[in-house]
Amino acid sequence: MSQPQYAPGIPGKVTEYADSVKQKFIKNATTSSVRPRTEPPTDLPVLPPGVSRNDYLDGIEELRTLVDGDVQLFDGPLDDGWYLHRPLSHDAYTLDSDDYFTNSAVCAPGSVEQVQSVVVWANKWSIPIYPISMGRNLGYGGASARVKGSVIVDMGKRMNKVLELNEKNAFCLLEPGVSYYTLYDEIQKSGKNLWVDVPDLGGGSVIGNALDRGVGYTPYGDHFGMHCGMEIILPNGELVRTGMGALPDATTEHGSANTWQLFPYGFGPYADGIFSQSNYGIVTKMGFWLMPDPGGHQTLQITFPREDDLHQIVEIMRPLKINNIISNVPHLRHIMQEASVYGDRKSFWDGDGPIPHDRIEDVIVPKLWMGSFRWILYFCVYGPEVVRKAHIQVIKDEFYKIPGAKLTYPEDTPPESYLRSRVKIYSGTPDLRELDWVMWLPNGSHTAFSPISPITGDDAVKQYNMTKRLHEKWGFDYFPTFCPGAREMHHIVMIIYDRYDADSRARARGMMQELVEEGAKLGMGEYRTHLALQDQVMATYNYNNGALLKMHNTIKNALDPNGIMAPGKSGIWGDRWTAPEEHKLAVNRSPVEKQVTNTIAQRQETKL
Ligand code: ADP
Repeated sequence: MSQPQYAPGIPGKVTEYADSVKQKFIKNATTSSVRPRTEPPTDLPVLPPGVSRNDYLDGIEELRTLVDGDVQLFDGPLDDGWYLHRPLSHDAYTLDSDDYFTNSAVCAPGSVEQVQSVVVWANKWSIPIYPISMGRNLGYGGASARVKGSVIVDMGKRMNKVLELNEKNAFCLLEPGVSYYTLYDEIQKSGKNLWVDVPDLGGGSVIGNALDRGVGYTPYGDHFGMHCGMEIILPNGELVRTGMGALPDATTEHGSANTWQLFPYGFGPYADGIFSQSNYGIVTKMGFWLMPDPGGHQTLQITFPREDDLHQIVEIMRPLKINNIISNVPHLRHIMQEASVYGDRKSFWDGDGPIPHDRIEDVIVPKLWMGSFRWILYFCVYGPEVVRKAHIQVIKDEFYKIPGAKLTYPEDTPPESYLRSRVKIYSGTPDLRELDWVMWLPNGSHTAFSPISPITGDDAVKQYNMTKRLHEKWGFDYFPTFCPGAREMHHIVMIIYDRYDADSRARARGMMQELVEEGAKLGMGEYRTHLALQDQVMATYNYNNGALLKMHNTIKNALDPNGIMAPGKSGIWGDRWTAPEEHKLAVNRSPVEKQVTNTIAQRQETKL
């Protein structure tokens, strides 16, 4: 990395903006970001279950020799930092006790061979390791492992190269440390006619986001779906390439067939899927298809005046999406979610409990620039002007069937409008604007409830009613966003809570548990979740007595008999951790988890 950096994967050019956001975070905090530990200093670093202190410390000394000394031990206080300076020692956005998800060390290998040696080391010392690429997975566990005391394998720090950027066939081959910002800048520098699909925040790793099945908003928004070819180190240290990568070719630079990034399947079972949201290996390279510059783009918003318009909006959206008239991943957001990017909660409301929806007209609407509305749809059309115009006309005609619908162009909005930041995201330019809404509450932290449903009005309303009811019950403002994909809809519900307020955190934890439970009853499964909920979410995918989890565990036992690779990720533990004694150590509930579980039971009884 020759360019000056603000933070890992973040270019120096964003310094001014990033510093201003950081100041807002500091202002929004009521206490220091440094947390006292609950363990006595003599018990630090925290040991993983079944490992003695001497073994742990001897093991760490040996680890240093394998990765050019790039090892850090976490035996001091925990500092939450903020999004760009994220901690690698623990989950900053904890839902349980302060230090329930804490790691004891991090190592940063500098080559594929070093990653192999780290894996062999973990087997030798029986120390669990947990790979991350950038570790900015905030809201889902951040950089933390599921098992306390694990050693983080920071794949992003030293393995951060764009290995290939191919304009002719529109793909790239990356190492884990390539962030969206880095890839974007490399493309700009090269002058190649390619786009990157970026998620809401550009500081994550392209590989890390795809592996956790994150989404973006151009037609290439399904990040895992747009990858082609992987290189993985298995838990026994073996190096595997998938798809056409398994076909050697001495004439290419990487040594595999020149179709590795062109044809995803190769021959035989398609293996790639089992390495996403999983704990079967460490990904060292991954290919991605890139969207050629479409020759023009137009981002727009349409507002709708009534809460009850939701059903009709989604019914109109489905055919537009499936027929690719709207070819990007649009956002349909409630006015509450909009409010959160324009101010914090107290700038709208100083009462207790969620802002009542019958007060939106007098407390929220006057403070936003769009006039009165309840839903806002952001979308983008691509291609030459004639194509864009035709698409806009069709989309407008359809949505204008809803009385009061209003279409707006970015140039007609104030400079600070959220629509203008959407222009960036929808045209593949990394941004950080989405950090704003986290400051809705003091010490704002977030997690997400994100069930998948068909793109129908009935399903949207069903989800909306259930989620709103539970937000009211647990005392949170509800921020609904619907994001339709190719055939389904992600309902992304950001839950913002104050992590330093025990009551707020416990309520967030309790509500998440109940949302997952209630969602599953309605046939809605989560696509991704926080570490603290992964056992519960996996347990909802239990068709035929949990046959899928049994299969995952069979694969886990075969690939990782010593259970060293990210045990517990996605609720997959394998035999080493599910033998009765070990299991008790690993997945025993923290006191806060127990307390929350009891609170849920009590609240249900008293119908609070
Ligand atoms: P982000 O890009 O948002 O910072 P992370 O690097 O935190 O994402 O990765 C998200 C999750 O994906 C991690 O918690 C881990 O489970 C998985 N992951 C990330 N990088 C790798 C990798 N190189 N190999 C295997 N799993 C990974």
